[in-house]
Amino acid sequence: MLSMKSSLKLGVAAAGLALGLGAASSGAMAQQQFVSIGTGAVTGVYYPVGGAICRLMNQTRSEHGIRCSVESTGGSVFNVNAIRGGDLEFGVVQSDVQFNAFNGEGQFEEGGAHEDLRAVFSLHPEPATIAVRADSDIHEFDDLLGNRVNIGNPGSGQRALMDVVMEHKGWSASDFSLASELAPAEQGQALCDNNIDAFVFTVGHPSGAMQEVTSTCDVRIINANDDELMALVEEIPFYFTATIPGGMYRGTDEDVQTFGVGATFVASANVDEDAVYTLVASVFDNLDSFKALHPALEVLDAQAMATEGMSAPLHPGAERYFREHGMID
Ligand code: GLU
Repeated sequence: MLSMKSSLKLGVAAAGLALGLGAASSGAMAQQQFVSIGTGAVTGVYYPVGGAICRLMNQTRSEHGIRCSVESTGGSVFNVNAIRGGDLEFGVVQSDVQFNAFNGEGQFEEGGAHEDLRAVFSLHPEPATIAVRADSDIHEFDDLLGNRVNIGNPGSGQRALMDVVMEHKGWSASDFSLASELAPAEQGQALCDNNIDAFVFTVGHPSGAMQEVTSTCDVRIINANDDELMALVEEIPFYFTATIPGGMYRGTDEDVQTFGVGATFVASANVDEDAVYTLVASVFDNLDSFKALHPALEVLDAQAMATEGMSAPLHPGAERYFREHGMID
C-alpha cells in the first residue's frame, strides 16, 4: 500500500517532470535549431566553403536561432546519401551527382531516385584535375593506363566522374597496374611518396590540397581533352570544358585544358522553408564577403548561382529568396 502510494506519487512527479521538461525543450528548440552541411575532405574546397556559409549564417544567430555546423565527409555521393538518410540537412555536391541522384541514374540507379533532394544554389566550377608525378611517363589522359592511379574513394564526386569516364573509354580497374581508392586527404602524400603515379580530383581552384602536393614534390597537371573525353562532354549534361590557369601551381606553367562539373548546394525537402531562406539570405546578402572567404569562389555570379547548374527542383526557401530579389520569375 505504502509502496503503491509512493510509487503513485513518484509517477505523478515523474509525469510532471516530463511535462516540464517537454515544455522547456520545445521552448529551447523554437529558439535553437541545428543544421549540418556535408562537405568533403578538409583540404578540399567544399569544406572551407561550407565553413564560409555557416560563418555567415551563425553571425546572425541571435535573430534566427539556427546553429550551422560543417561536417567533413567522403564527398558528393556520400552527402546526397546522408541527406537522404536524414543525417544531414544540407550538402555540397557536384552538379552531375545532383542530376543522377534526383533522377536515379548512374550510381543512384540501384537505390532509386532521391525525390526529396532540393537544389538551393550553384557554386564554383570543378575541373577534372589529373595530377601526375613529374618523373612519370604520363603526358595525356590515356597514358594513365598501366600506371598506378588513385581513382578516388567511393562516395566522392571524382570517383563518380571517373566511373563514367572509365565506362565510356571501356576501361576497368584492372587496366591500371594499381587502382587505389584513397580519399583526397591521402592522395597527395601517396603521390609524393611514390606509391601512386597519378590521381584524379574534381575540385575548385586554387585548392589547398593541390597547393600542398605541388609544393611538396614535383607534380604536373595534365590535359584531359582528348576526342573521347570531348565526346563525353557533348553527351553528358553538366559536363563542360574547363581550363586550369598555367602558373597557378608549381610545376604547371601552361594552361591545362580539361573538362569539369560545377559544385552545387543542396538540401533535403524536409528542411523547413525559413531555415533555407535564412541560409540563402546569409550568403546572397553578403555575397562579396562570401566570395572573399575562398579564392575558388571569386568567379561566382549571383544570377548564375540562382539559375544555372541545378537539376533538382529549387527548395521553396531558396525560391522565395530568389523571387523576392527578382532573380527568377
Ligand atoms: N568534388 C569533390 C566531391 O564531390 C569534392 C571536392 C572538394 O572537396 O572541394 O567529392
